[in-house]
Parts: sequence; structure tokens; C-alpha cells
Amino acid sequence: MSEMDAVSAISPKLDIAFYKTLLESTNAIPWQIEWSTLQFSYIGPQIEALLGWSQDSWKSVEDWAERMHPEDRDWAVDYCVSQSKAGADHEADYRALTKDGEYIWIRDVVHVVRDNEGAVKSLIGFMFDISERKKIEDKLFDLQKELEDLSFKDGLTNVANRRMFDSVIEVEWTNARRNNQPLSLILFDIDFFKQFNDIYGHIQGDDCLKKVAKVLSQGATRSRDFFARYGGEEFVLVLPETDNEAARKVADRCRSLVFREQIPHQGSSASQVITVSMGLGSTVPQHTDNLKDFLHLVDQRLYLAKQQGRNRMVDAG
Ligand code: GH3
Ligand code: MG
Ligand code: MG
Repeated sequence: MSEMDAVSAISPKLDIAFYKTLLESTNAIPWQIEWSTLQFSYIGPQIEALLGWSQDSWKSVEDWAERMHPEDRDWAVDYCVSQSKAGADHEADYRALTKDGEYIWIRDVVHVVRDNEGAVKSLIGFMFDISERKKIEDKLFDLQKELEDLSFKDGLTNVANRRMFDSVIEVEWTNARRNNQPLSLILFDIDFFKQFNDIYGHIQGDDCLKKVAKVLSQGATRSRDFFARYGGEEFVLVLPETDNEAARKVADRCRSLVFREQIPHQGSSASQVITVSMGLGSTVPQHTDNLKDFLHLVDQRLYLAKQQGRNRMVDAG
């Protein structure tokens, strides 16, 4: 006894008309394709409300394939055909073309019906409109991306944060070592910034940090140059494929960019305005070198710049 007969036997009143009404009143759109001819033997009338194409315009699988987004067509058709050939139930998400030329995201859930010998006889499926779900997924994706961006950004200055620097320097260090290329790094520290806060207040202090971050980030010009906030009033610039001489020029430019801002600083004994001290390191990392030592070296040079009177850069020379 087939499943249908079994149901009818229990409830004789459940006839074909009942099933038809049931199928044609759901949001999911039922369809059937005969495997031998690849022709639709049925598609629910709801299809017209959803896509605009009339019920009787769905004749063969070609109509189905043609009314699909070109970017989805190849894989969706290949996937559904191969799964059907293998006799496996499957589902596929794709964008279906509407009569107005728009696209609607559909989830097609397909059941493979076999004959008594086990050969594929027909495919029965339901098309679900999943465009709302896709919109939510896209929105979530955007939010996720925004969150990722935010987690690598410094909230105050809007430049990359320390976390991002840690990732970038790791990559650039490995890259420089592998390709035997020079890598330069400049550490910046604002001079007498504690006094600046004491004299002008924290809000002005924050404002000053934003300005300094903005101008310093303009100091480097190559697309792979990378600038980040390293700590409180410390910034860092990573200069891939840049030797000491070229990095020195960048450091000079950075210093004059900050100076040009002319942010008054009465508490500084280095100048009348905000200045920065810099440590610069350049290296072609060898296999025995390690990044921590290099960062430490640059930090020591920054310390030397402070000791030597601030508002200056110290490098190997
Ligand atoms: P030096 O020239 O030796 O670098 O002196 P300094 O006063 O700049 O050095 P120190 O490291 O003692 O002080 C850094 C100050 O930076 C202390 C801290 O209050 C301030 N600071 C760090 N982060 C922020 C911030 O986000 N906003 C503000 N307004 N101040 C900050
Ligand atoms: Mg400091
Ligand atoms: Mg400082």
C-alpha cells in the first residue's frame, strides 16, 4: 500500500482535492518534474504571485535554469542534476528571476522519487521564498564586518589599534625575512604629554592625540605602509620594503607634519609646541633574528631620543 492509500484508508475523506488545496495554499511552492522528459508535470499556482511567470509557462527544466541569476545558474543546475542522478534528496539556494527583471532568493528543497526498481522517476520539490532571511543574513554579515573593523580600530583616533599592529608586524616581519627585504619601523612618543594634560586638561589632550594621529598617518605614502596607535600617546609606523635612508626621510616628514600643526604646549621644555620623539629601526631580518628583539631595539632608540633632549629621531647612525 502506498503512503497516499494508507492515509486515505484511515481518513477516506482525504482525497486528491484536499491535497491540492493544501499544497496550493501554503507559502512554499510545490512542483514536480518527470525525470525521463525533464518536463514539469506540476507547479503550484503560487509561483505567479512570487515571480510573475504564469503557472503554465513552466514547461521544462530549461525554463527553471533560464529564470535564474547567471552567477548562480551553473553551480545550481550542476549540483541539482548531479544530486538527482545520484538519487539524493537535496536543497539549493539561488536567485530566481522575476518577470520584472528582479531577483528573489529561493530555497529549493528537492525530494527524489524512485520507481519500484529504484530508478529515479521524478523530482518533487518545494520552493521557499528566503529573500527576507537573506536580507537578515546580509545585514548580519555587514554588522559582523563592522564589528571586525571596530575591533581593529582605535576608538579615539580612528587609526588602527595595537591589536591590528601586532598582526600586521607579524606578517610583514615574516614577509621581509622570506623575501630578504628591508623592513623599517618608527615608534613615536609625544613629548611631555603628561604636562600637556595637566595644563590643558584631558579633553584637550584627547583632541591633541587625534590631531597628532591624523598628521602622522599622512607621513607615510605607500599603500602597504601601516600606521597604528601603539599605546597611550605612542604611535607606530611600519614601513615594508623600506631601508634606513628612506625611513629617515619619512621620520623627518612626520616630525615636520607634527610641528606644522603648531599645537601650543607651554609645559614642554623641548619646544613651545607639541613635538614627538622617534625611535627608528631598519633591518633585513635573518632566520636567527626575532621580532621581539627588533621591537625592543626600536624602543631603546626612542628612549635615547628622549634622553638626548626630545623632539628628535634616533636610529642606527
Ligand atoms: P615624555 O616626553 O618622556 O614622553 O613625557 P610624557 O609626559 O609624554 O610621558 P609619560 O609616559 O609619563 O606620559 C604619557 C601621558 O599620556 C600620561 C597619560 O595621562 C597620557 N595619556 C595616555 N593616553 C591618553 C589618552 O588617551 N588621552 C589623554 N588625554 N591622555 C593620555
Ligand atoms: Mg609614552
Ligand atoms: Mg610621552
